[in-house]
Amino acid sequence: MRILLVEDDQVLAGLLKQTLTSQHYLVDEVVNGQTGLELAVSFPYDLILLDVMLPKLDGITVCRQIRQNRKMTPILLMTNQDSHTHKITGLDAGADDYLVKPFDLDELLARVRALLRRGATTSSPILQWGELSLDPSLCQVMYQNKLLNLTSKEYEIMELFLRHPQRIFSQSSILDHLWDYDDPPSENTVRAHIKTLRQKFKKLGTSDIIETIYGLGYRLKAIEETLSFPTAVSPDNSSPSLEFKMLAIWEKSKSKYHDRVSIIEDAIRALSHNSLTEDLKEKSLRESHTLAGSLGTFGFPQASEISRQIETALKTEKIWDNNKIELLSKLVRDLRTYLSKEPTLTTKLVPIDSVKSYKYRVLIIDDNNSLTHALQEEALSWEMEIIVNNNLSQARESMKTIELQSIILDIGLSEGKETGLNLLEEIAEKYPNLPVIILSSQESFYNRIKVAQLGARFFLQKPITSQRIFETINQVLEESNLPTAKLLIVDDDPEILEFLQLTLSTRGFQVDLLGDPTKFWETLKTSSPDLLILDIEMPNYNGIELCQVVRSDPYWSDLPILFLSGHSDAQTIEKVFSVGGDDYINKPIICAELIARISNRIQRTQMLRKLADVDSLTGLINRRKSTQDIIRALNTAEGEKEFVCFAILDLDHFKKVNDIHGHEVGDQVLIRFGELLKKTFRKEDIIARWGGEEFVLGLYGINREQGLERIKTLLNLMRVQEFVNTSGQIFHLSFSAGVAEYPQDGHDLKTLYHNADQALYRAKSAGRDRVFPAQ
Ligand code: GH3
Ligand code: MG
Ligand code: MG
Ligand code: MG
Repeated sequence: MRILLVEDDQVLAGLLKQTLTSQHYLVDEVVNGQTGLELAVSFPYDLILLDVMLPKLDGITVCRQIRQNRKMTPILLMTNQDSHTHKITGLDAGADDYLVKPFDLDELLARVRALLRRGATTSSPILQWGELSLDPSLCQVMYQNKLLNLTSKEYEIMELFLRHPQRIFSQSSILDHLWDYDDPPSENTVRAHIKTLRQKFKKLGTSDIIETIYGLGYRLKAIEETLSFPTAVSPDNSSPSLEFKMLAIWEKSKSKYHDRVSIIEDAIRALSHNSLTEDLKEKSLRESHTLAGSLGTFGFPQASEISRQIETALKTEKIWDNNKIELLSKLVRDLRTYLSKEPTLTTKLVPIDSVKSYKYRVLIIDDNNSLTHALQEEALSWEMEIIVNNNLSQARESMKTIELQSIILDIGLSEGKETGLNLLEEIAEKYPNLPVIILSSQESFYNRIKVAQLGARFFLQKPITSQRIFETINQVLEESNLPTAKLLIVDDDPEILEFLQLTLSTRGFQVDLLGDPTKFWETLKTSSPDLLILDIEMPNYNGIELCQVVRSDPYWSDLPILFLSGHSDAQTIEKVFSVGGDDYINKPIICAELIARISNRIQRTQMLRKLADVDSLTGLINRRKSTQDIIRALNTAEGEKEFVCFAILDLDHFKKVNDIHGHEVGDQVLIRFGELLKKTFRKEDIIARWGGEEFVLGLYGINREQGLERIKTLLNLMRVQEFVNTSGQIFHLSFSAGVAEYPQDGHDLKTLYHNADQALYRAKSAGRDRVFPAQ
């Protein structure tokens, strides 16, 4: 994989190059935008890492021009902390992702990997591991110069291993890397592929290329010390750690950063003599910008933050009195102090893929400067970015343009007639899923109630420490990240049950416990969990047996099962997987690990389930899912003596759209019609694509006449919809519909469908573009 690095801070560029090289990427390094652009359009790079502030041509322009040249190489922008506008214009200009300086090297690597996974490989060096080599451009794997004859999946598995030669891949992570979600295989598939791979290697005279790490997964077998470290480029990366190298680079080049500080000091001196030239001002601004962007990466987060404050001051202050100059000098003195200390290196290079590739971004709307300042200062150590707005209208603007994970709002803020409460109302309506934390300096019961009604997650009384606020945000964000799910835990040890109940329910899981395995089957049915946790050793029935029972029942065969056990011997673990267990955790239980494994498992099944329910073209639910939903609605309606309106909608002469304008345009029409349905009907209505150009509605609590009215409204809307073909020509389209009602026109879905379909047929015969009721 070849990466183009465009960064004018050469020391930072050196560090980035070293980091990337240590991960087997080939890196070309340039220091200005002009050269960057020339290289980017002339060579097939796999990724471009692009700084924004660059000499000759800025990063945004470079980005735009690369895209104008129809180069689709993924671009990762590196911008400074304060420049939100850059990020947005950058993304508009065609960048794929951005990193905020100063960044963590792990985060950089995680994003690079993510982008490379997305983009197509255009050029790659040969990957080597001992006597094994893989040529991505030819898709060939050789062992001792002998070619292996691999299927494409086997090749992909080998490529995955060779790209991350020291990583252990669990079966599910191999699935995540190499299989489509549309076509999920069972985990046994991976095992089968590994088995045939091993057989193929065996034929070439080696048996232990792929190692099984019990309970975790597979990886390439470590190679002998004497062999060179796997790399396509730099042979020197077996020895010193990256941290060590980073320190070495810092030692070698810190004088360059001190020189940059000197330029800012020159500017301050000039300021106090009232003789600051435009040139020196520009220069010092540039230096502070570079310092802010780079120092954090070298392990000086505070120095980075101070440089940013210096930059802001130099940029915004127009009139410099003695006080301000003194403040600025103090900042520069602090900067020097921090730089004279040892850097705090936080790089944790293994295991790389578990590193989060994003940080939380939180907007605080408050005019208490000392509080917001403290929050900003400490944000880095909480892995958050804090954006401060001190008035309501500014906040409204931020919400529109910046992607946020949470909002903290001082409810006491007001602007004219408008109050914080009004803004909260607006947030609740426009961004219902965005967690909001409320601050208030007034203890008012009315406010508390109002705020709770509007869905705010926490009400915090001022005065309050920044520490407490960060803890609350963390709690809120972690909760909203966890999938809500129900777990059934079977273990004969009451202490373990109690412990699990406590830890898991405080993390938002619903937990059912069972201590007696003989009651397993009935408990499973009443509990109906999303995930099952089984102990292995239990009286009467052991966990392995319970797992077999679950797997052999068609209704439960997909249920994720996680084993807990004090045994970690190979045989037990082998057994767990062979009876269909999905994962395995050793006792004593480590909480964080347990929660991570449960969440991963549940997220994966929920995603698969969702994909199985949704029509991929329109995003509406499909026939299978809507059938279930409608049957459920009919059952409820029976108990509650409610109506359910059932309707079939069919686009008129849709075949002609395909014939005249092509299938692409036809697909667009289907998407638009789906959107129109979503807009017209209520959130709780069942709206589905049943196939082709036929759609179905299930409206709970609506009778036939009301249903007819709603569909007539939709007919009117449809008449004014303008569809456009590829040559810009506008055309119109209509649909016809038939409506039936529970209970009047049928008690089950089959009868309702039949009657609605008859009505549809009559509507078509009567000339289309109309809706008819069942008779
Ligand atoms: P009528 O008014 O009698 O319903 O006429 P019609 O042309 O809509 O009905 P017919 O059932 O004869 O044709 C349906 C057409 O829908 C045929 C098929 O090409 C098209 N179609 C079905 N699924 C898709 C799809 O996913 N994309 C596109 N573009 N066309 C589709
Ligand atoms: Mg720069
Ligand atoms: Mg049709
Ligand atoms: Mg049809």
